[in-house]
Amino acid sequence: MHQPDPETRQVVNFGKNIRFTPHRYYVPRSEDEILEILDRHAGEQIRVVGSRHAWSEGIVSRDVVLDLRHLNQVEISEVGPGEIQATVGGGCQIKRLLEQLHRRSGATMPALGLITEQTIAGAISTATHGSGRQSLSHYMEEIRTAAYDPVTGRARIYVWNAGDELRAARCSLGCLGVILAVRFRCVPMYLVADRLEQCTGIDQILDHEADYPLQQFFLVPHMWGWFAQRRETSAELRRSWYAGLYRLYWFLGIDVGLHLAIKLMVSVLKSPKTVRFAYRRLLPQSIIRNLTVVDHSDRALVMEHELFRHMEIEIFVSAKHLRRAAAIVQEILMAFDSRTFEPSRATVHDLQQIGMEQQLQDLRGTFTQHYVVTFRRVLPDETLISTTAGSEEPWYAISFITYAEPRDAFLAMGTFLLKSMIALFGARPHWGKFCPLSQEEAAALYPRLPDFRAICRRVDPRGVFQNDFTRRVLGFDEQSQSPRLRCA
Ligand SMILES: Cc1cc2nc3c(=O)[nH]c(=O)nc-3n(C[C@H](O)[C@H](O)[C@H](O)COP(=O)(O)OP(=O)(O)OC[C@H]3O[C@@H](n4cnc5c(N)ncnc54)[C@H](O)[C@@H]3O)c2cc1C
Repeated sequence: MHQPDPETRQVVNFGKNIRFTPHRYYVPRSEDEILEILDRHAGEQIRVVGSRHAWSEGIVSRDVVLDLRHLNQVEISEVGPGEIQATVGGGCQIKRLLEQLHRRSGATMPALGLITEQTIAGAISTATHGSGRQSLSHYMEEIRTAAYDPVTGRARIYVWNAGDELRAARCSLGCLGVILAVRFRCVPMYLVADRLEQCTGIDQILDHEADYPLQQFFLVPHMWGWFAQRRETSAELRRSWYAGLYRLYWFLGIDVGLHLAIKLMVSVLKSPKTVRFAYRRLLPQSIIRNLTVVDHSDRALVMEHELFRHMEIEIFVSAKHLRRAAAIVQEILMAFDSRTFEPSRATVHDLQQIGMEQQLQDLRGTFTQHYVVTFRRVLPDETLISTTAGSEEPWYAISFITYAEPRDAFLAMGTFLLKSMIALFGARPHWGKFCPLSQEEAAALYPRLPDFRAICRRVDPRGVFQNDFTRRVLGFDEQSQSPRLRCA
């Protein structure tokens, strides 16, 4: 994990889109020390950093930043025959947690994102997810935090293991205080059979979803074809003898090779023509297809996506809107790529309904998508405000990534995609990625937001744990804003 720059004391995130210099940067070693810091800075702004892999502005604080890297203990206990539970310090990185679980108990986490660099507290704070299961937030059974006592105003410890407090703490964007530790039920280490297939369209992918519950799938730009990473798990599986070789191929060929090629195309050559040619002719042919590889879940489900700096926006739509959303996404990407592209009548009609058709006309030809669009299915979470909260049906997370800098054109496209999807489908953006959401939009999208805010106010009446970002997206009212102003 990075430290702030020793000279400038500047804190910088993975995407390098966030830089700020807090007055104080603490790396506490104990819960008591955290309580003391909270009391000492009770009239200021306090935020916590994990491993800084979020692109949204959740970590930003003008006053105090806490870095919990030393609170990284992993306690494993057997709570029933074959039932393993882990109690983990908030600053523990997921890769360390996985290694400890595997080595000491043969267990693993119930869900995983694409990388394992995040801390457990950082990951749940923005509802980090993979494909085919709920987000990590959902699985937390107990969350221990440091916040303020509403009566005395002093810092104290809360332990939440039931009710709306737990649902709120499972995904809280850092607004409920400092997450000191979490407890969750582990699952036995399992094997995943993974096969990359080219498909005729999204229907073919979705028709087999029941057979491949962990699958994720891709829309390949410019070729406008579909690939699916078919993934299933079963007790019958045996690890493939060539799994290690396949991991090596994936690391050298995809994690490094493919991403280096993309970086070269967008940062050095800066040629949309080359990007289009590569996606139509080269990249789909150079990927190993139709080979089933069985490997441990913590290898099969992750990749080294953190090797090259990039930026992402991820937009969630509920299952009933997926097909239409996918069709519109493709047309929007085509329009951004070409000044002469004319969207279909259905899309023009939909965009006219929400008053965004002219805007798309104006933005045509301003950005060439240069990365596959990834789709992952995320089941409804038992939380108040995570991206799949309060739903009866699964959601699909649609991810857009850029390796190009400057990123203005990509961000304009991401904003257009998000705003149109909100208006058409009630879409929700990932809290940890580029997140241009307004509080009015959030209020309409998250019915339990008022309950979430009420719980935050109880344990943080002065709004110490809020920053401009959380106020913008979560709409805390004046009572809990700007502790400095009210103290003055
Ligand atoms: C290469 C890459 C791949 C990714 N892949 C996925 C993916 O597959 N799926 C997915 O859903 N997301 C993914 N993400 C996003 C990432 O999982 C989230 O942004 C996550 O929140 C980052 O965790 P972190 O430990 O780096 O936290 P930070 O980025 O440091 O912080 C994130 C938020 O958590 C809060 N926070 C951190 N620690 C605490 C604490 N102890 N107490 C209270 N609040 C705290 C911070 O204040 C901030 O608001 C990816 C990001 C990158 C860069």
